[in-house]
Amino acid sequence: MTSQKVDYIVIGAGMAGLASAIRLLMFGKKVLIVEKHSIPGGLNSYYKRGKREFDVGLHALTNTVKPGEKGKPFHKILKQLRIPLENFELSPQSYSLIKFPDKTLKFTNDFNEFIESIHQQFPNDIDQFLSLVEHIKNFNEVALDNETFMAKDVVRSFIKNESLIEMIFCPLLIYGSAWENDMDFSQFVVMFKSIYFEGFARPNGGVRTIINLLTAKIESLGGEVRYKTAVTKIIEQNGAVCGVLLNNETLVECSNVLSTVGNFETKKLLNPELFVAEENIGKLSFTESIFITKEKPHTLGSDATIIFYNNRPNYLYRCPQTFIDNQSAVVCFPNNFKNDQMDEGWLRVTSMANFNLWKNLNSADKKSYLQKKEEVASENIELLKNLLPEFSGDYLFKDVFSPTTITRYTGHLGGAVYGSPDKIRSGKFPETKGLYLAGTDQGFLGIVGAMLSGISITNLYFLQNGSNE
Ligand SMILES: Cc1cc2nc3c(=O)[nH]c(=O)nc-3n(C[C@H](O)[C@H](O)[C@H](O)COP(=O)(O)OP(=O)(O)OC[C@H]3O[C@@H](n4cnc5c(N)ncnc54)[C@H](O)[C@@H]3O)c2cc1C
Repeated sequence: MTSQKVDYIVIGAGMAGLASAIRLLMFGKKVLIVEKHSIPGGLNSYYKRGKREFDVGLHALTNTVKPGEKGKPFHKILKQLRIPLENFELSPQSYSLIKFPDKTLKFTNDFNEFIESIHQQFPNDIDQFLSLVEHIKNFNEVALDNETFMAKDVVRSFIKNESLIEMIFCPLLIYGSAWENDMDFSQFVVMFKSIYFEGFARPNGGVRTIINLLTAKIESLGGEVRYKTAVTKIIEQNGAVCGVLLNNETLVECSNVLSTVGNFETKKLLNPELFVAEENIGKLSFTESIFITKEKPHTLGSDATIIFYNNRPNYLYRCPQTFIDNQSAVVCFPNNFKNDQMDEGWLRVTSMANFNLWKNLNSADKKSYLQKKEEVASENIELLKNLLPEFSGDYLFKDVFSPTTITRYTGHLGGAVYGSPDKIRSGKFPETKGLYLAGTDQGFLGIVGAMLSGISITNLYFLQNGSNE
């Protein structure tokens, strides 16, 4: 066994880990960044099939900012990371739809259009909605000592119409809740502001643009991500972290460790032999089917960027009893951001999925697993035909990933994209001094949320001076 010593270890080169590492390197710290996969990005990553480059975790970047705007979360991130906004080459959404059986709401990056849409569809409820908006504007959602309380209770104290409530919650739940059918109110406000107030955009180069900017910054600061390097154990002594053991039999001594791999995933690393999967491991996972078509989606019948589709009166955001829930989905047409630079049409359908069913099938019978993916693709094609009147179902290429793919490439237990419902907002593990948590399970989800989490936990606990910048 070899050994080495560093000042800081960052576990995971996803959005939270990369952002944290940049901050540490900026302050001249000796930091080791370890990533078990062979490429960076984690849940927000990429892969290649033949000549085509695929994005994994990016439908849209939330928290869109316009040049000249100040003080928004995305600005704060860019300022902290010293990356100019224009380097992201953001292309705004055209519009998005929340499509339920009886009504459809439309929103854009101009919040007034959402108000207008609600006014048209729910004229009797608009004043109640506007009172909720005032409450949201005045709420400090990022305070680390906010208590957890259920968002639907708060929203019902303003809005009485359950149909409107279901429609408002739909995009916020599927883009950022680790809880079934509800969410913590602070998280609701984070998502409300980032999606409805600020809106969606996509970097022209997709996920790669974001990741390349972050990894280039790390390199320019003299840092390095060590890939294919997994932490197999976090070592503690007398209630304090003192190092980690790596899969290449290296012991790294260190008294400051930031984990971005998740709450229970970190607890498992503290105690790999004794860890027992707990109830509170997240249950929300997804499949995604990606179809490449000759025609672009606007030719096939839709200019919308994202459609939050639900075919029931209420929105069932929960782990389905079946392999996927085929009555709801998020449908993303990346071509329909305003600056389309793609040669082909891209249609992405994300469905809620049952991790255990996929896991059992995958381990029992590979052929049936692959067959099930084909069935999901067929169901998603039928859904697309509903939304795109000119779509015949023909495509040039397709790929489907399942919840087990998510666990395989990111280590998230249960394929839970939004982690566990047990968030650790303080980022501390009280029983292990020097060990901190950032990213998904600190409670700040999505690409922007994870970066913000990596930065703020690093500033707060490792760079006490940095937080005031
Ligand atoms: C299909 C899909 C669509 C999405 N769409 C959007 C979207 O449109 N907009 C948006 O904002 N967000 C979206 N997200 C969510 C977003 O990608 C994530 O919330 C965010 O990237 C989480 O970042 P993170 O750093 O917290 O965690 P992760 O990305 O999970 O990073 C953790 C890293 O730790 C590594 N790791 C795990 N265990 C170990 C170990 N033992 N040793 C070393 N390394 C380890 C993992 O490989 C991973 O790279 C989507 C996600 C998915 C899957």
